[in-house]
Formats: sequence, structure tokens, C-alpha cells
Amino acid sequence: MANLWTKITSAVTRKSAEPKLPRILSRDEHPISRKHISDNALKVMHRLRSGGFEAFLVGGGVRDLMLGKHPKDFDIGTNATPEEIRQLFRNSRIIGRRFKIVHVRFGREIIEVTTYRGSHSDGNDKTAVAADNGMLLRDNVYGTLEEDAVRRDFTINALYYCSDKFTVHDYVGSLNDLAKRQVRIIGNASSRYQEDPVRMIRAVRFAAKLDFDIAPDTAAPLKSLAPMLSEVPAARLFDEVLKLFMEGHALRVFALLKHYDLFRPLFPATQEILDSGDSTAIALIEQGLVNTDLRISQDKPVTPAFIYAVMLWPVVQKEMKILLAEGVPEIPALHQAAQSAISRQIQHTSIPKRFSMPMRDIWELQLRLPRRSGRRAEELLEHRYFRAGYDFLLLREQSGEIPEELGPWWTAYQEANADTREAMLKKTSANKPRNNSRRRRKPRYRNNQKPS
Ligand code: ATP
Ligand code: MG
Repeated sequence: MANLWTKITSAVTRKSAEPKLPRILSRDEHPISRKHISDNALKVMHRLRSGGFEAFLVGGGVRDLMLGKHPKDFDIGTNATPEEIRQLFRNSRIIGRRFKIVHVRFGREIIEVTTYRGSHSDGNDKTAVAADNGMLLRDNVYGTLEEDAVRRDFTINALYYCSDKFTVHDYVGSLNDLAKRQVRIIGNASSRYQEDPVRMIRAVRFAAKLDFDIAPDTAAPLKSLAPMLSEVPAARLFDEVLKLFMEGHALRVFALLKHYDLFRPLFPATQEILDSGDSTAIALIEQGLVNTDLRISQDKPVTPAFIYAVMLWPVVQKEMKILLAEGVPEIPALHQAAQSAISRQIQHTSIPKRFSMPMRDIWELQLRLPRRSGRRAEELLEHRYFRAGYDFLLLREQSGEIPEELGPWWTAYQEANADTREAMLKKTSANKPRNNSRRRRKPRYRNNQKPS
């Protein structure tokens, strides 16, 4: 695919600066080859065509193939209705969240098949439902291929590939924007964001992922419409936030989100701390995202729990300081602060329990990792989330939140043999400052009733 850009740019500039649309590139005018497409996707398209329907590879798959990248997955567009698709594939099921799509399953691979969507601007069709603020609530109007292209979010996501004729179809200037390396929304930016505010964070995600610019008209309304994100259901935002931070370009995404004031509606409490100019919090988040990007580039697993633990740690700490000043002991203060940070956050982006539980553990480990005497160090090593807690500790040290002491100790301890471990523990307890004025535990009485 070395001559990819020559192919795209020459395809674009061969005609006038504003090429006539639609443009259909033949096999020798684009770099896509069937060998880059999953066999299952090819099979699905073939079967749809044999059934008398149209079938195209669409969206991110075509975009990535045009850019010489490996697509994450393959989506197919067709004029068959979900029920017709369902009849062609035994191994399929209709998924109906925002709009109906069909999943065709081949072992672990799922091919997503979507019926062409039509325009819904005539206001006559009851299958598209919009709220007063222009937000689309339901969007099940079927349409033609051209209409389907126009309802997609960005031009670069609206290319169609026909695996039968080997052609690439451009209805909205996608090729021009790919050559210019820009993310451009289809249609009027403000109304497209109003229809679906998630498109605002998708603009940032694609710009960061592809290292593209956001076209000026597409960027212009972002800041003023950013608050609309608060109206998107928290569960949908959780999914989109994961895509923002778990695709290997989290640091760039974070910078763009802040630039367009899109971070605020996603993490308002964290943004408040950033607004106060807390440089430690900024350093912690940025370093956390650098580490995440690095892990992804090394094919190491990353968990949403860690990312959310990083994003909310400054909030937890702020709350905890207040509670400690009120005399609440450390551990209960952390639990209360964690509870309050999480319950406020889930009003904006939900956090499933399977992630909020480990988040709490990662935070609690920050209080437990300094306490190593007796059997404690060995027990901590056995903790289910020791590794995440230890990574989090290293991150706090790296970002300058705490001095670099405990992290190196735990690194050495994990690598040491039994004898060295024992020696390390002895040294630690010998260095521990003695607490002469032992605090007497206050007796606690139920219902505040002291015995007479
Ligand atoms: P990725 O490679 O990150 O999956 P993608 O472009 O495939 O990127 P998806 O979220 O998988 O993104 O969506 C598939 C396609 O559906 C997009 O390319 C786009 O054409 C269309 N699409 C997705 N979300 C929206 C939206 N909110 N509004 C309009 N079109 C959308
Ligand atoms: Mg996709």
C-alpha cells in the first residue's frame, strides 16, 4: 500500500478541486483488496447479494483499509431489512438499542449488518423520533444507499466498498477529506451534534486516532454545544468514554477534549479540580494516560477500572481531606469519599459494578501498601488487585504526588527471595517511628447510651 496516497490524491485531484459526486473508484484507483477483508464479511456480502439484495462494506472498515490500517471489525450496509437479513443467516440476531442492527456470528467474530437508513427531515415518519432539543431518540427509517451515506457522522466514515465489483463509492466528499487528513461532519455541524451529541466526542476520537485535523466548520460549534453531552444516557457515554481512552491515543484525546471543553460534561468533578489549576492532578491524569497508551502499544491489557480510578482519584482525595479534617479515620474517610465520587460520576457516565469494585480496591490499596509489617506484605501480594494497586502507586510517584519510596520497595520485594523479603520487612519495621503516646480507644456505646 506504499502508493496509497498517490492513489487517493490523484483520484481526488484528477478532476476539479471539487470533484463531482458520487465518485466511484474502480479496482486500480484504490488500495483495497479482498485479501484485507475478513472471509466472514465477504461471505455475508455474497449471501446477501445472492438473496437479491445490495451489500457493501461500510464505515470505519473502509476508512481504515483506505488508510492502510487493519480495521477492528467489519460492518456491512444493505437494503435488506433486519427481518430479511435474519432469515438469510441462521447464526444471526437482531440487536435493538438505538436502532435495529443484525449481528451475524461466526465463532468469536461478529459481522454487523445494518439496513440503509433514510433521512428523517420530512417529519412525517413515525419511526424517527426527535426530542424538543433536536436529539434523535429513535432512528429506524430505512432508505437508499445515498441516503444512508448522508446520515453517517463524518465523511471519512461514509465510504462504501463493493466486494463484487471491487469499487469504492463516495457520496459526500470522503476521498477529498481522507487526502486532506481531516474529520468533517456531514451536513450542518450544529444540527448534526444536536441530533446526537455523542458525535462531538467521536470527532475528537477520530482526530486523535488518525492524527487528522478537525475541519474548521466541524470544530466551530463544539465548545458551545459541549453541555448537550449531559443529556446523553449515562450508559451510552460509558461505552464512548472507553473508546476514547482505550484505543491507544488517550493522551491526545484528553488534550482535545479539554481544548473543546468536552471533558467537563463527561467528568465534571474532575474538571472542577483541573480548573483550580491543580498541577498534581493534571500530571497524574496525563501520566496515567501515557502509561495506558504505552500498554496498548505493547499489547498489554488495560482495564476501564484503572482509567476511571485515575480520573476520579483527585476527586476522592479532595473529599477525603475534608473528612480527615473533620476527624474521620483514614479508611472510613476513603470509603465515604470513594462512594461520593462514584455516585456523582455515574450520573454522567455509568460505571458497571464489575469496574467500580476494583476501582475502590485500587484506591484502598493506596492506604494499605504502606503497611507492610508482619504477614501484611505477603497478604497484600495475594490481593486480587495487587498488581493494579501497585501500578497505581507507581503512577502517583511518577506524577510527583508522593515521593518515590514505597514503589521501589514493592518492586524489590516482588523480585526478592524469601530470605531477602524477611530482611526487607525487618528493616522496614526497625525504621518505623515508635508511637509512644498510644491512643486509647474510646469505648463505643450503642445508640450513644452510656451505661449508668
Ligand atoms: P472504529 O474503527 O473506531 O470502530 P467506526 O467508524 O467503525 O470506528 P463505529 O462506532 O463502529 O465507528 O460505527 C460504525 C459506523 O457507523 C461509522 O463509521 C459511521 O458511519 C456510523 N456511525 C456510528 N455512530 C454514528 C453516529 N453517532 N451518527 C452517525 N453515524 C454513526
Ligand atoms: Mg467499527
